[in-house]
Amino acid sequence: ISKENGGNVAQFFDDSMRNRFKERLVIENALRAVVDRGGFALYYQPKTQSGIVTSMEALLRWHDPELGSISPATFIPIAEEIGLILPIDEWALVEACKQNKKWQEEGLLRVPVSVNLSAKHFQQDYLSCLIEKALNISGLDPKYLKLEITESVFIKNPAHVAQVIEKIKRLGVLISIDDFGKGYSSLYQLLQLPIDEIKIDRQFISNIDQNERKALLVKSILEIAKGLSLNVVAEGIETEEEKMLVEQIGAHELQGYFFSPPVSHKEMMNLLNIEIRSL
Ligand code: C2E
Ligand code: MG
Ligand code: MG
Ligand code: MG
Repeated sequence: ISKENGGNVAQFFDDSMRNRFKERLVIENALRAVVDRGGFALYYQPKTQSGIVTSMEALLRWHDPELGSISPATFIPIAEEIGLILPIDEWALVEACKQNKKWQEEGLLRVPVSVNLSAKHFQQDYLSCLIEKALNISGLDPKYLKLEITESVFIKNPAHVAQVIEKIKRLGVLISIDDFGKGYSSLYQLLQLPIDEIKIDRQFISNIDQNERKALLVKSILEIAKGLSLNVVAEGIETEEEKMLVEQIGAHELQGYFFSPPVSHKEMMNLLNIEIRSL
């Protein structure tokens, strides 16, 4: 490309593209820095059953002084691309196990904690070591640890992924399929694995009280899941109407803004004191 063409080449990237590229670089650099100094927070969102807290989901939070709060939906995919997802998920895993153990020791709460794991880890063999390490460091009984994975883990090397899952199951931890029904995997493949739980994706729950087809679909999913002795969680419950219908259909656990958004561990203590069960 000649110098005279420089102007034309530059035009190829319009301002919005250039800005997005810049923004992406800014986020990448900030992400590297926050991983280095351990600046993440872990929030917890309860899952409930007849208004009683039955488990917690740990969700990463990142607040950058200059960039503001950045959603995991934004930074997790970037972390996966630039090779930072391992230290990030490792930190969340250890932190969640420690906090759960602490709550149990304080006699405040004895329910499992769910940790989200990137599909990336399931292509590797280190995963069971990572989980063992988190259990050892925290002293948490494995039956209190649940790992949330999405169906996208099965896109690549499903046979190998199945082996990795079998191996981590042998540690005594529980496996949950997150965003169930969003796509990717075959139901047959999925149900051959030693999974313990499915979380029905929010898209099927949203306005379910106004949509007979959704209700029918969720009912059928529940029937299959119950036949297989799987625990079923409905995620994204936002309204009383959704809650009533999903409860009536028979989901085991409910989760969503209707009950509580994800909160810090300190706020969680307050929540438990005012009793979420009154909702
Ligand atoms: P997810 O695991 O499916 O988590 C549910 C997301 O929905 C969370 O968003 C949660 O805050 C939000 N949510 C909960 N209840 C409601 C509701 O009633 N209505 C609506 N509209 N949203 C609700 P969040 O915290 O932004 O996390 C987004 C995604 O980022 C998570 O989806 C998960 O895939 C990923 N993620 C979060 N923490 C981690 C982590 O530690 N490691 C990995 N690998 N991924 C994580
Ligand atoms: Mg999840
Ligand atoms: Mg989910
Ligand atoms: Mg979801």
